[in-house]
Amino acid sequence: MDITRLRGIGVSPGIAMGEALLPRRVIFTSRKEIVADDQVPDELKRLRQALDRTRDDLARIKEGVREKLGPDSSLIFEAHLLILEDPALVAGLEAVIREEKARAEWALSKANTRFEQLFEALADEYFRQRKSDVADVLKRVYRNLETKREKEKAPQKPHVLIAHELLPSEAALRLSRELTLGLAMDMGGQTSHTAILARSLGIPAVLGLRDITRQVREGEFIIVDGTDGEVIINPPPAVRREFQAKKEKYENYGRELQKTAKLKSETLDRVRFIPQANIELPEELGLATSMGAEGVGLFRSEFIYLRRESLPTEEDHFEIYAHLAKGAHPHPVTIRTLDIGGEKSLPQLNIEKEPNPALGLRAVRFSLRNRDLFRIQLRAILRASAGGNVRILVPMITEIDEVLQVKEIFEDVKRELRRKGEAFDEKIPLGIMIEVPAAAALADIMLREVDFISIGTNDLIQYYLAVDRANDFVTYLYKPFHPAVIRLIRSVIHAALKAEKDVVVCGEMAADTPSAILLLGFGLRTFSMNPIFIPRVKKALRSIECRTAEKIAEETLKLRSAQEIEEYVTEEILLRHPQVFLTGQTLEAQPKK
Ligand code: PEP
Ligand code: MG
Repeated sequence: MDITRLRGIGVSPGIAMGEALLPRRVIFTSRKEIVADDQVPDELKRLRQALDRTRDDLARIKEGVREKLGPDSSLIFEAHLLILEDPALVAGLEAVIREEKARAEWALSKANTRFEQLFEALADEYFRQRKSDVADVLKRVYRNLETKREKEKAPQKPHVLIAHELLPSEAALRLSRELTLGLAMDMGGQTSHTAILARSLGIPAVLGLRDITRQVREGEFIIVDGTDGEVIINPPPAVRREFQAKKEKYENYGRELQKTAKLKSETLDRVRFIPQANIELPEELGLATSMGAEGVGLFRSEFIYLRRESLPTEEDHFEIYAHLAKGAHPHPVTIRTLDIGGEKSLPQLNIEKEPNPALGLRAVRFSLRNRDLFRIQLRAILRASAGGNVRILVPMITEIDEVLQVKEIFEDVKRELRRKGEAFDEKIPLGIMIEVPAAAALADIMLREVDFISIGTNDLIQYYLAVDRANDFVTYLYKPFHPAVIRLIRSVIHAALKAEKDVVVCGEMAADTPSAILLLGFGLRTFSMNPIFIPRVKKALRSIECRTAEKIAEETLKLRSAQEIEEYVTEEILLRHPQVFLTGQTLEAQPKK
């Protein structure tokens, strides 16, 4: 048996070992099979029956997903049902059977090719991606043409799922905490919905493997190392043992860490801190709570838009925000208004491509240009705030005028709700993200206008150091410990403390142990991060004296380079509080930038 080791992107940490399961892939026929004249009605009937079965399947799946993951996740199946109901699609399939006297399989294959070409020709990346939705529906119909339909049985025993690509909804359906030991996929990346879902369910996953579906056969033994982004097919016994040991170590360490969820969030010298969660989907709230999150420090609301074919209504927004507010109560939920534009184009609107998207019509700039959309979102957030634990956060503020304009709109929306007699929290805190260096330099002035600030270090570093956070060529320059960066962050935290207003760090710096300790030393108390990193940071902060962190932090101001600072912080921690780094440090997934 050949051993194969493949490298991909580890998107959900942990190690899984087990037999591979490859869901059946439908390959459309390339052969046009002709039928006799009198068989044409039979083919039409076969097609109609397959369409009916597909409709039933989709309705059932939609209900299942709705129950398991909520109404938002089942929307994609609503869209699939609409595709199936399209009279032009059905008429086109029937026409091929009738006119070419061909089998129904050929009609579906032809339709698939036609749609593929159509979608490929589209300029918009999002719409090009939608071809997989149409293909998905056509494949279901194709599979349902088999009369003695060998139904794809739901897997009975634990397995490692190997797939080419999973639509978010398929992922929601196929991934199960009990039976899916691990996931390995040809496609997908760190921020794909499948990745987020795998993390939420605690399923180790490696994506972006390119051709694993061609390299592995059903039933073969597989190791998925989601921590290091590696997949091993047919490992020999020695490798299995090695990974079994790594798995046990990781799981023990995980259990250890999870215990911290129930412990107090305070340092050795009793200074209270607050770990919060950054989430992108409402389904992630459960995971966040189990990891010890004391509220949501950042809800990236753009995913509400990206998951839909059409624009979300006020009710769509409201349902999600109300669900979050209720689920997190009494802890706060911070809802960030739409951070979109530039490269993350809104599929529902025809946004022009910009030459330099990171510096373009992003976030609040987009919201102030599209005030109707902005008002819909603000109304929904306000209505969901009636329970008193919702906060609102505005991204990418560059100058004070933007804050004033947002406040004016916000007040106007409040007046509108009062007129309508809608309940909301009159004291709902309004905050801004500090992620543009200009806003950081003006923090003291900005703070006079808002209730809290949240430092988005991911963008702040990229803009301050002029280093694209997503460009591999320049990652060597992307340095959270750059002396200029830490001085800037320190000054922002101090401005907030002086103004006696809340300050949060919600960028990845809050999730990394040495930088979280540095931030603690600068006076930060609220750290918001991807939920899977909360136990690690909480354990680290519980293992240190705040006094020590303060001393370390002040010393770093004398150093000249990122390397000097990072080494100094790490060494000092090791010297004074070695338990911060104790157990399994190497097994932890590192936060992405
Ligand atoms: C940030 O910029 O640090 C941040 C938290 O926002 P995002 O990563 O969504 O840009
Ligand atoms: Mg940002």
